Amino acid sequence: MGDPPDEMPLVFMYHSIASYTEDPYLITVRPERFEAQMHWLWRHGRRGVSMRTLLDRRRRGEGGDLVGLTFDDGYLDFFDHVPRVLARYGFTATVFAIAGRLGGTNEWDGDGPRKRLMDARNLRELVAMGIEIGSHGMRHVHVPALPPDGVEDELLHSRELLESVIDTPVTGFCYPYGDVDGKTITSVREARYDYACAVSHSAWDSRFAIPRVYVGDRDTGLRLRAKRLRHRIRTGDSRLEPAVRD
Ligand SMILES: [Zn+2]
Repeated sequence: MGDPPDEMPLVFMYHSIASYTEDPYLITVRPERFEAQMHWLWRHGRRGVSMRTLLDRRRRGEGGDLVGLTFDDGYLDFFDHVPRVLARYGFTATVFAIAGRLGGTNEWDGDGPRKRLMDARNLRELVAMGIEIGSHGMRHVHVPALPPDGVEDELLHSRELLESVIDTPVTGFCYPYGDVDGKTITSVREARYDYACAVSHSAWDSRFAIPRVYVGDRDTGLRLRAKRLRHRIRTGDSRLEPAVRD
């Protein structure tokens, strides 16, 4: 039953990295901005890593300089823009892919501009680069609202499908829409995931509902610092913060 960490690590949440003209769901960060944000981390002695690395290091009482970098939905633009920047700084990341929509689009966003999702070949190439692949479910639905067989499909079958695609264990889950409750957390644990990412802080803050910091296209260094401080205050985590000055 592994105890949840009493202090939550700092984890950034991204979706799409691309140039854009409209972005009604505020899920897109321009490549230049993303690169500036990674540079900001590097300049402050921080290193962006996958969730797996972040949690492994923290289990050993290490990794106070690490920041989790997560990318939800598996947009194809990740492949176009992100690995090059991560490689420049020696960073890694976690991509939460939607197992039943590989090679498809973000159909669940009613109005939004359609964005292509990575396919199986893209995911295998990311694994070869050291990027972790986690599961974002089968179809991008609200898991707590599902009947038991639907939950099983989203949690277990999505993982099996992704593992068969990348031929590597999948140990992380990410709740679509950040939608989580106690029952769903129990299901995630029973499905033998090692961790799960939520979006905001909640009563379920733990290794199985890790809150993340939304990072958007307007987030310059100053705003990132404010967000990091808010995160620290909410989690009571002071050990994470080496002396950082802009
Ligand atoms: Zn999503």
